[in-house]
Amino acid sequence: MKIHEYQAKELLRAHGVPVPRGYAAFTVQEALEAAQKLGGSVWVVKAQIHAGGRGKGGGVKLARSIAEVETLASQILGMQLVTHQTGPEGQKVRRLLIEEGADIQKEYYVAALTDRATQKVALMASSEGGMDIEEVAHATPEKILKVFVDPLVGLTEAQARELAVGIGVPEASQAQAVDVFQKLYACYMASDASLAEINPLILEGHGGIKALDAKFNFDANALFRHPEIVAWRDLDEEDPAEVEASKFDLSYISLDGNIGCLVNGAGLAMATMDTIKLFGGEPANFLDVGGGASAEKVTEAFKIMLKNPEVKGILVNIFGGIMKCDTIAEGVIAACKAVNLQVPLVVRMKGTNEDLGKKMLADSGLPIISADTMAEAATAIVAAVK
Ligand code: ADP
Ligand code: MG
Repeated sequence: MKIHEYQAKELLRAHGVPVPRGYAAFTVQEALEAAQKLGGSVWVVKAQIHAGGRGKGGGVKLARSIAEVETLASQILGMQLVTHQTGPEGQKVRRLLIEEGADIQKEYYVAALTDRATQKVALMASSEGGMDIEEVAHATPEKILKVFVDPLVGLTEAQARELAVGIGVPEASQAQAVDVFQKLYACYMASDASLAEINPLILEGHGGIKALDAKFNFDANALFRHPEIVAWRDLDEEDPAEVEASKFDLSYISLDGNIGCLVNGAGLAMATMDTIKLFGGEPANFLDVGGGASAEKVTEAFKIMLKNPEVKGILVNIFGGIMKCDTIAEGVIAACKAVNLQVPLVVRMKGTNEDLGKKMLADSGLPIISADTMAEAATAIVAAVK
């Protein structure tokens, strides 16, 4: 799960990481009031969407008067903001962050993330802040420093100092940078984040260290212990099909292809998508109906897949273990009738009560193509959508 920058800053602030003063605004009027409350002479009007690159896309603007805050707020609110992370259609801006303008001496990058290779939390820092970190990693990988944290010890002062010195934080500000890195790590751990990124982390004119942008991803499996974070969920920023699927406890991810996949078990779902690709097709989604797929759940899954106009065929690939094949067959038949299925459907079932399940499909009178192996199933659906 992701959150907005202003929420991420609230979280950082609660953990003692310095951030600019600022207020969220949902209307131009609120933006004006926020600027008045902040006072000062420079404000920044920042579009709040769950995507980075807002600055380059025109979603982060500096205002030098309250009147300018008003103008910029009315321009940015409601705009369709396109960044390299939103895709060409962009994302509608519904919220703003109005914050005080910072005196930027230098921009750095720092992030805490889970490193799969070492199975540890890594703290990653760079002197090249404010830029797209993927670009830095590609062009100048030597400018990215990493330390790996021993979970029993936490991020040590020595490690934090190694990063601060390594990215060139001036000596007078190093103690502050060390403190920020340690607090960022603590915040990452306490919130069960999978990514906590500050880009840019800035050095201010008077030597202060501050987080000017913040991005968090949270491990969905740990959200049950963070109701305060779940309360920040913004459904407007999520794929409507994925939101709908989560209501029915279906694991669904939209993809770009035209073959809808309905599978039980994440591993089999991954293998199914690989097999479709191997046979020259493109999956339209990942969909794991889980272990206890009822007829209702399968019907909902069909409805969700078919909302995508790109879907030209569906492949059902089920292993009947705890879930018996005849139960799945019943679900598939009910779903076909409920949605009045108009696209080709290939079903492959293996396992408990396989023969009964296959017989039910054959006897249903529905134009279901039955397949025995993964290869047969993939060949059949790829041919059917061509
Ligand atoms: P994004 O990463 O989505 O482009 P950022 O929050 O990083 O958005 O803002 C982009 C750039 O705008 C920053 O690198 C920084 O130079 C500038 N900026 C952002 N917030 C402020 C602020 N409060 N004061 C001054 N400049 C800012
Ligand atoms: Mg940024």
